[in-house]
Amino acid sequence: MQWRIYLKYWLLTYLIIGSFATVQLVFVYDEFHPQFVVIPAVVAFIIGSLLGKLAVVREQLHENGERFRAVADMAQEFIYYRNLSGEYQYVSPSVEALTGYSADEFYKHSNFMDRIVHPEDQASWKRHIDDANGEGIAESLDIRILTRDKQLKWINHVSAPVVNEKGRLIGVRTANVDITAQKLHEEQVFRLAYYDALTGLPNRQLFEKNLEDMIKKSSSEKDVFAVLFLDLDRFKNINDSFGHKLGDKVLVEVTHMVEELCGNDCLLSRFGGDEFVLICADVTDKYTAESFARKIISKIEQPFIIDDIVFYMSASIGVAFYPQDGSDFSTLVRNADTAMYKSKKDMSSKILFYHTEFGNETTHFVTTEAEIHKGIRDKEFIPYYQPKVDIRSGKIVGLEALARWDNAEQGIIMPAKFIDVAEETGQIIEIGKQVVERVIDDMVRWSEDGIEIPVAINVSARQFANSTYCNDIESMMRESPLSTGLIEVEITEQVFLGDLELARERINNFRAKGVRIALDDFGTGYSSLSYLRQLPIDVLKIDKSFIDNITHDDTSRAIMKAIVSICQDLNYMPVAEGVETEEQKEQLLQMGCPYAQGYLFYKAISAEDVRNILLSSEQTRARSFIADQEDH
Ligand code: C2E
Ligand code: MG
Ligand code: MG
Repeated sequence: MQWRIYLKYWLLTYLIIGSFATVQLVFVYDEFHPQFVVIPAVVAFIIGSLLGKLAVVREQLHENGERFRAVADMAQEFIYYRNLSGEYQYVSPSVEALTGYSADEFYKHSNFMDRIVHPEDQASWKRHIDDANGEGIAESLDIRILTRDKQLKWINHVSAPVVNEKGRLIGVRTANVDITAQKLHEEQVFRLAYYDALTGLPNRQLFEKNLEDMIKKSSSEKDVFAVLFLDLDRFKNINDSFGHKLGDKVLVEVTHMVEELCGNDCLLSRFGGDEFVLICADVTDKYTAESFARKIISKIEQPFIIDDIVFYMSASIGVAFYPQDGSDFSTLVRNADTAMYKSKKDMSSKILFYHTEFGNETTHFVTTEAEIHKGIRDKEFIPYYQPKVDIRSGKIVGLEALARWDNAEQGIIMPAKFIDVAEETGQIIEIGKQVVERVIDDMVRWSEDGIEIPVAINVSARQFANSTYCNDIESMMRESPLSTGLIEVEITEQVFLGDLELARERINNFRAKGVRIALDDFGTGYSSLSYLRQLPIDVLKIDKSFIDNITHDDTSRAIMKAIVSICQDLNYMPVAEGVETEEQKEQLLQMGCPYAQGYLFYKAISAEDVRNILLSSEQTRARSFIADQEDH
């Protein structure tokens, strides 16, 4: 169609120039001169061609613009083109869906984008604009904007230069994509990877990143900070007794308590279970660390109520300092953990600073769990037996089976080193089965020598709540050739804190099969003398903490007397635990408590030693053990 445009301009210019020449011809020369036709025709052709060309280019430009507009208008992303002073020359209609503002508002106000970029992203936005206006090249940018209704959205902003024919920068074209959903997804993934779902605290991974950043930033040896490893005391009892849901609520409550005390320079994180770790950048000496740790413990020790239950919590804290106790994440955390573990084990202090002498003495949780796993596989868990004696005659009336880990490398390992971990990981179930299996084997072997003696096995609240474990124990007993009434199960009061009715039912089941029930460590937990009357038990084991005090503390003596008298009323067999001195033994005799266990009589001994002692002349044989117990 271009020839029409040219024709139009040729005719138009010829009309003008030709009519001028015609007027000249008619009025000035009065006769025909061919140059008056040819020259105007040539000039009209040249000028017409030039004007025609101009018109064609203009039309093409217009068409291009319209085409660009038509395409850009359709684009889902928000596209704009602006000149270097920030006036918008094109803004796609999709701006409204993304920002809530119309294209007109952009046209009216130069640099309108500056107004909607989130305050926290202004600095990076300004850098981006400077780059785009300067070199014309700026890296793509993820920024937050605030929409008309103050919603926060994430956009990916890409700009490219627009240059004229001479290559001079004249503007910037951009495309903005809504990446809010993607950012939310990324945030979720980040949260899952780096935050603890229950408490919302940073997890071990994020803690490690932060700690390593701090180490990198610390310019000199003089930069000191503290790592505090906090572990709640007896938390597993709460889970066992009240269930995990309530246990979780307790952890959240404790988190709030500790968070309140943490300032900006302190990062609190949860490593899992009841383990919390803090980096305190502003704690640089033992004095400050001790007072901060003490504040945390006092706060945690304040009783709190959840679902109408009053919780009395406590915690132990181990402290390690950077760089003296470790210059990397794992060493620092391991050493703070070691100090915490040691403080729990020794029970001398709730706060302990790491000391190189602790060395390998303590066992790290993760290692122990893996090692216990091997121990279970290799059947290394065996029972030792602590005799229960009638202190009037000194005769052994029964045995308590106590788990020992007969480790191939380390020899005999005591429960204090593995029971807590085994409880926490659930490995106690397998350990318990292994021990009971061995107990039954030992009892069968002893019976071949004519020894029939009652043996008590310890069943923790976690084991007791596990019906498979209880059924397995029952069938092991049933399938053995042992006579009923020889096995006793020791449970603690924790068992009654969960589902009381289920506990009662389980106890009655055991008792119906001839298994006697002993209540262990009485006096340490949530004991109350009045509820004692309602429990279907046979034996009451009074905790060592009472026995320790009966020779010099009137209150302990009075409580002890009351317990013994209730036992007599209710026909419970009282057994004093941890008797170590003759004075204690005398007091017990005076109070009418004839049965006891303790180092004064025997420590826990191997099955072989049990056999030898029971076969020796001082101990009478067989049925008399049972007769003694029934006599109490
Ligand atoms: P427990 O059932 O109360 O056992 C008594 C603990 O006191 C035993 O420690 C025993 O060796 C210790 N003991 C006895 N007499 C004295 C004394 O005169 N002085 C002192 N200082 N201690 C004395 P052990 O063997 O280290 O066991 C500790 C705890 O580990 C047990 O307390 C029990 O709660 C748990 N445990 C042991 N074996 C098993 C098991 O097979 N299953 C379960 N679930 N728990 C077990
Ligand atoms: Mg016991
Ligand atoms: Mg006990």
